[in-house]
Amino acid sequence: MAKVKLYDKDHGTYYFRCPAGHDHYINTIVPNQQNAQWGFNGDVNNPTFTPSINEKAGRFVDVNVKGNEEWLSNPENSYHCHFIITNGKIKFCGDCSHELKNLTIELPEI
Ligand SMILES: [Zn+2]
Repeated sequence: MAKVKLYDKDHGTYYFRCPAGHDHYINTIVPNQQNAQWGFNGDVNNPTFTPSINEKAGRFVDVNVKGNEEWLSNPENSYHCHFIITNGKIKFCGDCSHELKNLTIELPEI
């Protein structure tokens, strides 16, 4: 069963809901707004993306984000999620802001 889903065919964008609670979009054909693009093994059932994905949101963005503190305090809105997806498994790096850092787990089916 699929673990990532094609979201935008023209950009080669794949989508998945990460176990730490975020929606991630990975561009494989056309670079994203941050000019980042990844290699993909083409297998939605056992995906491998290279290199790692390093995503920051809310208070973890490098520029000083001003916003509603209550909104920013929600881990879904303000996070640092850094991971590598290899053969259907997601390995969270040690600099993640959430409790799954340093863990490697099977990606859930989508
Ligand atoms: Zn995440």
